[in-house]
Amino acid sequence: MNHQQAQSKMTDVMEKFLNLSSKKLPDDVYDKLKECRDAETSEMQKVIYDTYFDNLNKALELDRPCCQDTGLLHFYMKCGSEFPYMAVVEQALHDATAKSTYSAPLRQNTVNYFEERNTGDNTGERMPWLHWDIVPGSSDLEICAYFAGGGCCLPGCARVFTPSDGYAAIIKYVFDAVAGLGINACPPLIVGVGLGHNMENAAVLSKMAYLRPLGTHHPHPKGKKLEQDLLAGLNKLGIGAQGIPGNRVAMAVHVESSARHTATIAVGVNVACYAHRRGFITFHNDLSYDIKSFKGVTL
Ligand code: SF4
Repeated sequence: MNHQQAQSKMTDVMEKFLNLSSKKLPDDVYDKLKECRDAETSEMQKVIYDTYFDNLNKALELDRPCCQDTGLLHFYMKCGSEFPYMAVVEQALHDATAKSTYSAPLRQNTVNYFEERNTGDNTGERMPWLHWDIVPGSSDLEICAYFAGGGCCLPGCARVFTPSDGYAAIIKYVFDAVAGLGINACPPLIVGVGLGHNMENAAVLSKMAYLRPLGTHHPHPKGKKLEQDLLAGLNKLGIGAQGIPGNRVAMAVHVESSARHTATIAVGVNVACYAHRRGFITFHNDLSYDIKSFKGVTL
């Protein structure tokens, strides 16, 4: 397959994958929402969850996105150093985004700063947003596609503390972020926490954290314990679905970390909403593909 054929095939597959991912929640998220519903005791919370599930079922039945805010498209990639079509990936994702905007359809959300005009097809300056990690020796390309809605972006924040503030500053910062603007993001949330050495590496890590499949944990036992303790604590805030009183403000807390500078403690917080539209697809070196986030689907 030459590069032109590869670009066309990848565009076609990704357009269909985006259309699907805008309408159907990943299996792990759907299952976790059922668990959250079971943990709620108030009638109002049950009604909200029933409405969520009704909405999700209707999105599939009517072939429409499951939330009106289909966000801006982000692609987080793990690209094998031996993947033969790296050169065409960016253009294929750009074209798939533009096509999906009309075929899904996705809401036209993208505005370039200095023109103040909607681009009309969800492509624009550095948009869709691409993040590349290179995997030495692999010939696969794993793409995580994420629809970044406005409400989920609002609570995002990052800050650098001094060691004298102590690790307790991290906990307070996460609680303040979730208790402050977190309810704008249609709870129950997936809370991503990034621990790093400066603002941008903590922010990127917090994003990678909430993209992780549910049920996975930080590899260090203390990192895993931090995730569990934060989740238990946040769920005692008395906030439930849609920010109304309840037992589950969060489906999960995920932590990702890097080493820090001796003089800094940096923390980033990013949240994802109940309609956590993120899909994993892996292309092999012949452009055959596997979809990990949804069982039994064909594009
Ligand atoms: S926070 Fe999520 S579910 Fe709520 S409006 Fe935004 S994208 Fe939709």
